[in-house]
Amino acid sequence: MTPALELRGLGYRYPDGREALSGIDLRVQPGESLGLVGPNGAGKSTLLLHLNGVLPERLDGEPSVFVHGVALGRDTLPQIRRDVGLLFQDPDDQLFCPTVADDVAFGPQQLGLLAAEVREVVQRALQQVGLAGFGPRSPHQLSRGEKSRVCLAGLLACTGRVLALDEPTSHLDPRGRREFTALLGGIQATKLIATHDLELVVALCPRVVVLDGGKVVADGPTVQVLDDEELMLAHGLERPHVLRHRHPH
Ligand code: ADP
Repeated sequence: MTPALELRGLGYRYPDGREALSGIDLRVQPGESLGLVGPNGAGKSTLLLHLNGVLPERLDGEPSVFVHGVALGRDTLPQIRRDVGLLFQDPDDQLFCPTVADDVAFGPQQLGLLAAEVREVVQRALQQVGLAGFGPRSPHQLSRGEKSRVCLAGLLACTGRVLALDEPTSHLDPRGRREFTALLGGIQATKLIATHDLELVVALCPRVVVLDGGKVVADGPTVQVLDDEELMLAHGLERPHVLRHRHPH
């Protein structure tokens, strides 16, 4: 099966010379939910930014990112941006329209849908994230949790098959985290979720990749990888409480 996402020897140095990723090989199958964990500075956000060409200087060299078999390059960028929805860590970086409906409509409008189709898609996406009726409201008057949902609705409205989510629950309170986790669990898509929320990983991702110093240091079944206390501590993480509860020592 053609992987939904494939990285082949992906390396990246920021313009100031800092090496953020090196030699990353990764395959994610269609429909898979993959957790991406690691300490601050591990390279998680940089990896996600590669998935839809946010880093423009990457578009001309030898391709190392493939989405459903299509190599990311300058000519395939529009196609790949349609396929991969990227949720930024801070919803305020993503929301810029006067109303929720306008924000969610932005993507589908770019795809060239007719006005009536856009309205329908927006309504459906807002319903999917539990925000039916929020269309006329201003995104800036919403709670953090609601803002995150609006951002997610924006991605769903574009019907991308791959969701790349950067710390989707980091700014939410425990209830918000639980609700957002459940919401993500109900969405059919290939998901790559960079997060410090290990409970979310346990709940949604059967497989997890640990990144540290720009390299993959572990890749395997979540319960196995996250239960390895030595590995977790060596990479600035901790064994999640949910697993401790399952295997009390
Ligand atoms: P994570 O998301 O795992 O916290 P990042 O991808 O943000 O890690 O960062 C990876 C490395 O790249 C870090 O060493 C960080 O300091 C560096 N980095 C991130 N963004 C930039 C940037 N815009 N310019 C220079 N270095 C950066």
